[in-house]
Amino acid sequence: MRREVLMHAAEDILSKSPLDRIPIKVEGVSSPVATRAGASQPQHWKPSRFNVQTTTTEGWLLLWNSYAGSMNAFRPAQREAILGLISQRGVTTPSGGVTGYLADRGYLVPRDADELRRVQYEFGQENHRTDKLELILLASEDCNFRCSYCYEDFRHGTMRPEVRGGIKRLVESRVGALRSLKVGWFGGEPLYGMDAIEDLAPFFAEVAKREGLEFVSHMTTNGYLLTSDVADHLLSWGIADFQITLDGLPKDHDRHRTARDGTGTFQQIFDNLLRMRERSGDFTVVIRVNFDQTNTPGLQQFLGLLQERFRDDPRFNLSFHAVGKWGGANDANLAVCGVDEAEAIRIKMKSAARSLGLHVISGWQPAEGVGSQVCYAARPYNFIVGATGDLMKCTIDLDKKDHNVVGKLLPDGTLQLDKDKMALWTEPAFERDTGCQSCHMLPACQGIHCPKIRIDQGRRPCPSVRRTAKLEMVDYFNAKQVARADVSLGEQHETRAPMAAKGTTPTGR
Ligand code: SF4
Ligand code: SF4
Repeated sequence: MRREVLMHAAEDILSKSPLDRIPIKVEGVSSPVATRAGASQPQHWKPSRFNVQTTTTEGWLLLWNSYAGSMNAFRPAQREAILGLISQRGVTTPSGGVTGYLADRGYLVPRDADELRRVQYEFGQENHRTDKLELILLASEDCNFRCSYCYEDFRHGTMRPEVRGGIKRLVESRVGALRSLKVGWFGGEPLYGMDAIEDLAPFFAEVAKREGLEFVSHMTTNGYLLTSDVADHLLSWGIADFQITLDGLPKDHDRHRTARDGTGTFQQIFDNLLRMRERSGDFTVVIRVNFDQTNTPGLQQFLGLLQERFRDDPRFNLSFHAVGKWGGANDANLAVCGVDEAEAIRIKMKSAARSLGLHVISGWQPAEGVGSQVCYAARPYNFIVGATGDLMKCTIDLDKKDHNVVGKLLPDGTLQLDKDKMALWTEPAFERDTGCQSCHMLPACQGIHCPKIRIDQGRRPCPSVRRTAKLEMVDYFNAKQVARADVSLGEQHETRAPMAAKGTTPTGR
């Protein structure tokens, strides 16, 4: 009998933990946060190393955190108190109140938080995602324009049928694991390859609907072929976000952006934009303005022209970019602006456009947080697919640099990838760069704002906002003051940026 009991007990502790037999006292339910942190217990806080602060001429304290993507403006009377709470001394207070608010916004972090490790974690989370697929499709590698600063070589025409078949099979094979599908149409000029778009775009829309995917589709087009009929089709396929370039007044634009037969292109694009504006419905157009020393003097007058037609229509946004020597045959003849000069022009033009009631999106936005300044080329789920099935990463290098051609899309939908080339583009570069590790922009940029610069030149590819963040914050704040007589961002908050790459809006042109 005794042996039987012992055996029973032995079996029991082998199949069930004795700790599970201890009764659990239930003393009321508390929230997980309160249990962990102790809501009424004093907490030790330190300022986030990713805070950026500045003061306006009227004495408002502006705070931005490049991890949380939060921005606040505190009234002059609150300034000293807030600065005291976020000083390097740290602060010990119970949770809640102003301290809790500052912690919630990311300006204060627990004293033992390792913020570098947090960025490493966020990088890993994003780069190992298998539920996202982002494709930048070169519907045609040829173009009906020959712009002065273009860097492409127009060696192929419309995307081949077997490549389109491969894309469909790739998407079908991945769709079970996907939550998000982004498709960017690029070229050459994508609308020059309308056959490929007609073949693929309805397919993407149908798959996304059938599978309940988050679906975003964007097109970078010169706008020349974007007639009403074409726009009808594109919008019906969910392509609802366009980037179209106008480089200033007609005479300036036509000098920069000439058709391949040498004729001007401004009027046709402008007419197409006006017809877009007459539509009702939900779409966005970014009017990109590339400036250099030749067209800058006319930009103020050009803004007046845009104001007449697009003022107060939030679907049309302006974005200003300095022309660069992007690797084209005409680079030596370009009158590019210097770095500081370009930055000053960009900020001036943004301000001028806003004061005319135009919407501006270029540059820094307060909701930019983790990953927001990372180039799409650095993400393993993002591929450019060329007209012949080449898989590429950088939209400036395209197939001109061997290391940018990371593989081939096979007709059966297989991504045949070169692991070393993929690793080159998608590495966590900041982990080998002590300068990045101590940078206040690290969460947003992660040292891979432009992997091409790091690869080609072996230097840090800092985004310009690293130098201009304070100016941008003041500019943003002033723009809000124009829009609202009573700005009370001290209590009001901006939305936080989701973890995201710079999007599928390709750079250049
Ligand atoms: S940001 Fe740099 S790496 Fe990314 S597409 Fe542009 S040039 Fe290429
Ligand atoms: S590349 Fe420049 S801005 Fe980006 S994290 Fe490194 S030092 Fe900071």
